[in-house]
Formats: sequence, structure tokens, C-alpha cells
Amino acid sequence: MTLERPKGHDSVLEGLWRAASSERLPHALLFTGGEGIGKYLAAHWFLAGLFCDEGPAEPCGSCGSCRRQAAGSFGDLFVIDPELEDTGKIGVGRIVRRKQTEGTPLEEFLSLRPAEGGWRGVILRDFELANHEAQNAVLKTLEEPGESCCLILVSSQPGRLLETVRSRCVLVGFESPSGSESAEVLDLAGVDSETAGLVSRWADGAPGRALRFARRGAVEERAVLIDVLSGELDALVGTERLLALEGDLGEGTPSALVRRRAVGAVELGVEMLRDLARSGAGYPMDQLPHGDVSDALGGRCYGLGVTSRALESLWRARREIDSNLAPEAVLDRALSEVQQIFSAASSAQ
Ligand SMILES: [Zn+2]
Repeated sequence: MTLERPKGHDSVLEGLWRAASSERLPHALLFTGGEGIGKYLAAHWFLAGLFCDEGPAEPCGSCGSCRRQAAGSFGDLFVIDPELEDTGKIGVGRIVRRKQTEGTPLEEFLSLRPAEGGWRGVILRDFELANHEAQNAVLKTLEEPGESCCLILVSSQPGRLLETVRSRCVLVGFESPSGSESAEVLDLAGVDSETAGLVSRWADGAPGRALRFARRGAVEERAVLIDVLSGELDALVGTERLLALEGDLGEGTPSALVRRRAVGAVELGVEMLRDLARSGAGYPMDQLPHGDVSDALGGRCYGLGVTSRALESLWRARREIDSNLAPEAVLDRALSEVQQIFSAASSAQ
């Protein structure tokens, strides 16, 4: 990845660089905070500043270390990124050598002689996706990663980490960047202001999430979902439209991209229905990211029973996609069910 300065996390990072300068940097850190607020970027930026010939401080961008990092050829950085690797999980084979291991596992990387001679860094992204075996396998490394080594676990759901893992890390909390900082991220990425306003709201201000929404075409995605919910669009046609949407879903095989598209639609649908349930229960609509869904469905009030059944159907779809059922069939089935649930509820009113 190219090095990018994360927005809104300067003081946290400066504190960590200062700790490193005075040899007080803990060797295992857990970066936590909401999804898509820049924790992973911050981990890269922090380590870049640690590796920098002028550091530990904000990376200079021009020394040999900074240039090799920007080019992705820096020898002493080890990253596990389930999103990029499109695995959706972290298996034990990425931590220690097992039959299924491809490439170098973490433990072997750390047993090698440092390539650059200074700090070494490890980033384990979304570490809650590691199964228990993989989490247990990392314990020894968390205790003794070796000299001048900094391990960063990144997780927006630290509650899913084993207590033994959490307790071996120093927690570093990240807050969501301010509204103007998030807007700047979207603007720099070329997102028009109307789209930026919508996706920021849906992402609760988290710029990384908002950017993902914008890139994959979530505005169109949501419009199709509303048409299906309101019964204006046949569920099968809706499924076809959703899966044919233009948009950037990242790297991956065609089937991986279809799966990601389907997962995105299901998860967005879940968030919309949750807010519909909340607004039905009297929560102020203007404070909900998808508070306008109720109006888009003709302002009808749906009871908790209706929204729960619809949500149940989408959750099942999410599990089915995870267990590798064909995403088209799963999405069609779920959207048909949800449409029927809503249409039955409307005609009963
Ligand atoms: Zn530098």
C-alpha cells in the first residue's frame, strides 16, 4: 500500500513516537476504535515514522526507509490483512508454520535477522477474525517479540479477542475524526459533495467506511433496496441490479467480487431495517443514519415483529453467503422474503 497520512489521529501517534524516542514504547499495542476511522492507516503511518531514518517521528517521506515503505519493499514490516487477502479470517497457519501455510508465517518472519537493521513492525488487521487457535498461537510472540520490534493488533471488536491476547497488549484507543476531517478525506478521494454527505451519514462519520460506501456505489445500492422493500421492484430484478452495479469493490476474483457485493447489500439492508425498527420504536429519525427509510416506505409504521422477521431473513442470508452458497440465489431468496414480510404487513394495516 502507498503511505497515507491518517486524518485526526495526530496526537495519539505523536504520543507513541515520543514513547519510542524515550524507549518506553510497549512492544505489543492494540489499536481499537470504530470501524473505518483510520486505525489501520494509523498503524502503517506510525510504523513508517518508527522506521524513518529521521524518526521516531512523523515520517519524512524522502529517506530510504520511507521510500521503500511507500514502494512496499521495506524488508522489516510484516502485515496480515484479511481484507486484502480476501480470506475473511486469520488462520493459525499465518502465525506459525502449519501444513496449510503459504508464504512466511509471523513466527518465522520474527526469527529471521532484521533486513534493515532498525525497528521491525508487525500489523495484524481485524485480528478479531483470527480463530482461537491463531489467537493462542500469537501469545508467545506478544510476550517476547524480540528486540526493537513493535506488534500492532488492529480491531474494532476487541471484545472478540481472547482475554489472554488483550491483556498482553497496551490498548490505544482511536476516536472518529471530526466531520471536517472526514469530509476532507472524501473530497481528496474525489467523492462529490452530495454523495459525501450521504455516505458520511450512513457511515456515522467514519471516513474509511464512508469511502468504501462511495466507491462501491452504495447510493444506487440503497435505492434498489428501498424499491424492493416498498414492493416497487421485483426481488429477482432487484438482485440482478444489485449484482450488476458498477463500483470499486477492491481486488479479487470475479466470484469473490460478487460475494462481496452481495454481502455489502445484505449488511446495508440490515442497517436500514435496524433504523426502521428504531424509528418505529420512537427513536428520533433525524438522529438515525437511515432514519429516512421510513419516509421512503410511505411513512408507514412497522411493528417490531415485522422488522425482526425481515432482519432474521437477512442475517440468515449473511450466514449462507459465508458458508459459500451462491450469492445470487441467497440474495434473491432473502429479498423475496423481506418483500413479502413488508407487503403482508402493509396490507394488514
Ligand atoms: Zn523518512
